[in-house]
Amino acid sequence: MTPWLLGLTGGIGSGKSAAASHFADLGVHLVDADDAARWVVEPGRPALSEISQRFGDAILLPDGTLDRSTLRQRVFQDPAQRRWLEELLHPLIRQEIQNHLSRATSPYAILVSPLLIESGQYRSMQRVLLIDVPLELQLQRSMRRDQASEEQIRAILKVQTSREERLRHADDVLLNDRDPDWLRSEVKRLHNFYLTLKGGKP
Ligand code: ADP
Repeated sequence: MTPWLLGLTGGIGSGKSAAASHFADLGVHLVDADDAARWVVEPGRPALSEISQRFGDAILLPDGTLDRSTLRQRVFQDPAQRRWLEELLHPLIRQEIQNHLSRATSPYAILVSPLLIESGQYRSMQRVLLIDVPLELQLQRSMRRDQASEEQIRAILKVQTSREERLRHADDVLLNDRDPDWLRSEVKRLHNFYLTLKGGKP
């Protein structure tokens, strides 16, 4: 039977990666949208040669991999180039995610995506789990993890969708406002619940 799909999302520093690794420990197949976005431009993949044909070899690093920061700078100031790049990559990333999820043998599979709501990816999911965290904790944990200033994290938060918007799309909310053991036990509880669902529904 094909697994049903759970979208796992949350703002920066909410605990998505930590929660995802607990689900993986429980044997749930998962794919991270950020990894998929990296895989499609690996050397040897057609997208990378299309990008280098358009932007020149200056967007390649000496080892032949994509120089992401140079590419980011090139498209930052140029909406037409950015649109071209998005039109090339978005379908490939979608396909890459689908390929990985379709190989799942667990009863359900997870797409971990910070932009699940913004990108519209949530529409392809049977269910959405939001990792939610109060702003203060989100700032503290992100600053500690990324060695970043409060201003840097706030700048990222500003371009991410709001907590309210995420809550509006969530079927389940894991409030990650206690210690790591609590997070693990909440993941276990949700996993047991998910195993009772058919197609993501009770
Ligand atoms: P995200 O993937 O959503 O950006 P992470 O899973 O990387 O977030 O979590 C952000 C930081 O907070 C990490 O350093 C992680 O170890 C830590 N963290 C996550 N959950 C908890 C928790 N319940 N208690 C303490 N620290 C946590």
